[in-house]
Amino acid sequence: MQLYTKILLGLVLGAAVGFAANVFQLQGLTTVLLALEPIGTAFIRLITMIIIPLVVASLMVGTASLGDLAKLGRIGGKTIGFYLCTTAVAVTIGLMVSNVVKPGSRIDDTTRDALSARFEGDAVSRMQLADEAPRVIDTLLNIIPRNPIQSAANLELLPLIFFTIIFAAAVSVIAPKRREAVITFFEGVNDASMVVIDWVMKLAPYAVFALIAAVVADFGADLLVSLLVYSAVVVAGLLIHLTVTYGLAVRFLARLPFGTFLRRISKAPLVAFSTSSSNATLPVTMETAETEVGISKPVASFVLPLGATINMDGTALYQAVAVMFIAQIYGIEIGIAEQLIVVLTATLASIGAAGVPSAGIITLIIVLNAVGLGAQVQAGIALILGVDRILDMIRTSVNVTGDLTAAAVVARSEGEDLSFEPRGGRSAA
Ligand code: ASP
Repeated sequence: MQLYTKILLGLVLGAAVGFAANVFQLQGLTTVLLALEPIGTAFIRLITMIIIPLVVASLMVGTASLGDLAKLGRIGGKTIGFYLCTTAVAVTIGLMVSNVVKPGSRIDDTTRDALSARFEGDAVSRMQLADEAPRVIDTLLNIIPRNPIQSAANLELLPLIFFTIIFAAAVSVIAPKRREAVITFFEGVNDASMVVIDWVMKLAPYAVFALIAAVVADFGADLLVSLLVYSAVVVAGLLIHLTVTYGLAVRFLARLPFGTFLRRISKAPLVAFSTSSSNATLPVTMETAETEVGISKPVASFVLPLGATINMDGTALYQAVAVMFIAQIYGIEIGIAEQLIVVLTATLASIGAAGVPSAGIITLIIVLNAVGLGAQVQAGIALILGVDRILDMIRTSVNVTGDLTAAAVVARSEGEDLSFEPRGGRSAA
């Protein structure tokens, strides 16, 4: 059985067992499932621990072996351009679906107030986190690390990418003998990291079971009923973005059959779904790009870590729907001008959101403030918090699929021959 089939099986079984425990109120089973959750946490830690060696080594090898810095600049321009465009499209889809379905007008005042009251405390703590967010100029300055080791220690990928590219560019111009030595060393680190990922992924089906079963068993199913239309609008928007935006990009820009592409990459969105974290999924995303789609190392090692940090189409789309939902509930008109502000701020907010669970709901506060919903922030966040985890799982899968789509599109535009065949491979010699 293929690994992705096993992961899917773990996911379905986990959901079924969790659902049974939840719906039939099986306290004993719920306790057991919650006790199993650390297996999932162990898995997340195991793949997270390989992020730094993998990103540094693969970016180092990718950039240093390019030997052509103009090419790197070109790849960078295309990547950022593609990321910005698809995110803006995602927000627009979110707005369109919300305008048509109007999820907020379907909630009565009693349900609204009950939901707000239930999650009030949680909402306050999220708002405090948003207050701590740095200003735009600081965010830009923070891309330049003072100490790359510290960036690595804090899992801050953007400054680490910045440093590694500069360092690798320097490696590419030093004496050939020394250059080869550095590249060979990092090639070894890269290959060993890939082997660790292969080992860790053997645990994935069990970890996915543990993670999903605990989430579903512990989930307030009553909430889903009252927030069903809202959740359905988010999911419908995400599905449209996945099938139409990515479908067209993969078919016509990357020139690959979309169905086969989805099947080949499915390991990555499945892990994203279970972990709710683009960052934690990054090692799997990188391995998948190279071994399943045949994307070259220079492209994969640059496009994907950048994507895990700044490209979050699913998050941006979800934020658009959430803003419209909250405004509709409170009977506040969001006109065309405000919707344009949503496109702009949700795109930027999703760039600023870290690739970790629940990051999107914190940066949502920025979007709410930007469209004049400042007074409704606390109650509004409280209102949607109850279903956030489930929606986070789904939007994170879309975020990761977006990164892989971009990698395929950029690789093809650089003339790569994508044939779903692994590139180069890991030499045992
Ligand atoms: N969990 C998402 C991610 O890691 C971010 C978010 O939407 O909260 O991509």
